Amino acid sequence: MAAIVLTGSPPIVIRYDSWEAWRADLAQPLPPAPLIAAGTASCAGCWGQGRVWEPAPNGEGLVPHPCEDCGGAGLVLTEPPA
Ligand SMILES: [Zn+2]
Repeated sequence: MAAIVLTGSPPIVIRYDSWEAWRADLAQPLPPAPLIAAGTASCAGCWGQGRVWEPAPNGEGLVPHPCEDCGGAGLVLTEPPA
């Protein structure tokens, strides 16, 4: 008998051939994917936002400027490219 389960967020319907196949899939979870690419780190100058907020010239609030450390990317290389 086929097993149909809802999993994930948002829920996705997945059909397994049997409950044994569902148990086997649960027993071997995928390793978590890295949040950012290997060899990179969040920029320390802008905390990964890619922009730095500075006071506006006219004194009315803050204005975003591209980060000079990372060029607006929010990530910096921690290892030299191979
Ligand atoms: Zn930056």
